[in-house]
Amino acid sequence: MQLLDGKLLSAQIKLEIAAQVAQIRETGGKIPHLVAILVGTKGASETYVASKMKSCEEVGMASTLIRFEPDVSEDELLAKVREVNNNPDMDGLIVQLPLPDHINPDRIMETIDPAKGVDGFHPINIGRMAKGLPAYVSATPQGVLEMIKRYDIKTAGKHCVVVGRSQIVGLPMSILMQRNTYPGNCTVTLTHSRTQHLADICRSADILIAALGRPEFITADMVKDGAVVIDVGLERVPDASKKSGFALKGDVKFDEVAPKASFITPVPGGVGLMTICSLMQNTLKAARGEVY
Ligand code: NAP
Repeated sequence: MQLLDGKLLSAQIKLEIAAQVAQIRETGGKIPHLVAILVGTKGASETYVASKMKSCEEVGMASTLIRFEPDVSEDELLAKVREVNNNPDMDGLIVQLPLPDHINPDRIMETIDPAKGVDGFHPINIGRMAKGLPAYVSATPQGVLEMIKRYDIKTAGKHCVVVGRSQIVGLPMSILMQRNTYPGNCTVTLTHSRTQHLADICRSADILIAALGRPEFITADMVKDGAVVIDVGLERVPDASKKSGFALKGDVKFDEVAPKASFITPVPGGVGLMTICSLMQNTLKAARGEVY
């Protein structure tokens, strides 16, 4: 079994990005600038946004965090999105999800200029990604692809099972894995909560990508010997032994699945760190006008 080490990879990728940002600075170019909007101060979202902002700093990019109270109106939020859209100094914009119930996330996502939508959630980016046109690819699936590439995992002809069909992870992941390119060329099965015989389907996977948000749902009996197991899940579960009062768990029961897998991601230290790298890679592309 080999660990797909998100910590190691993300450190390498950050060095690569930092070198490119340094070169931009030396040649007097525009420093890439990522803006994040955070509504409220919900524990996990706060932590995710903080690590995105910190990562930008580490690579020498500019970052701005815009905060709103949880009772902010949708119109106020939309106005801020339009303001960022029109600010030529700001290259990438993410609005941290989830949003409070009174705000329609689709309206917010659709209002972000697709050329600044570095998280890849804008429908135009999703559509362009599906057609194989230049696009910002959804950040987490892009991070998974980067991992597969950097560990030189063979994908052509393999059966890839994706568990979870969310717009931001499972669905784009399944589209990307079937594309006629590398990584890709898999035969893909996309599964969800209504899927019958899920364990059998998972057992037939050469590459199993779990993105369902159910801690330790994937057990050893659901995994084929030698499978590549990628765990996107990231959930806080109560743990009195931790100072924070919670532990981070993935969708895969790591201890029992790891001995069967050829490659496996740990949680934490796996896909989550790659997601942040994707955001920075996309912000760099946005600043250089490489996609639009
Ligand atoms: P989501 O929007 O809640 O979608 C979950 C998907 O899993 C749905 O399609 C759901 O099916 C399916 N599902 C739920 N229970 C299932 C079951 N028992 N069997 C089969 N399928 C089931 O979640 P998400 O936003 O994609 O996130 C999934 C996980 O990834 C979460 O733990 C999240 O925290 C994590 N995540 C991590 C990162 C990262 O950077 N590491 C980024 C994004 C998300 P239905 O469609 O039928 O309801």
